[in-house]
Amino acid sequence: MKGRRAAREEATATARRLLESAVAHAAENLESSRASAELARKVRLRFNIRLGDDLKRYTCRGCKGLIVPGVNARVRLGHGDPPAIRITCAECGRVNRKILGRPYIRSGKVGKPDS
Ligand SMILES: [Zn+2]
Repeated sequence: MKGRRAAREEATATARRLLESAVAHAAENLESSRASAELARKVRLRFNIRLGDDLKRYTCRGCKGLIVPGVNARVRLGHGDPPAIRITCAECGRVNRKILGRPYIRSGKVGKPDS
């Protein structure tokens, strides 16, 4: 029997893979992508898994559904203080903000994909 630790690691890999493929195919088939994202979410909840920042932004904090920029979400830069990226969910209208701390901007990460 597998230890819980090993099972959790496997679940993490599965959840990541599911969500990554959901994002990759969202433009062609949003319905099936939504289904895999939902599955990934269930796996995450079951094993109490946190995904990294790179994948976290694909989940709406309002409806918990899959949001993919250009497919069912709008991305805008907010030039307030602090500056933030605003990702508006087209499903529920929730504005998901990603705060850009100054160290983050200085590190040169802005504008480049995380992958
Ligand atoms: Zn939403």
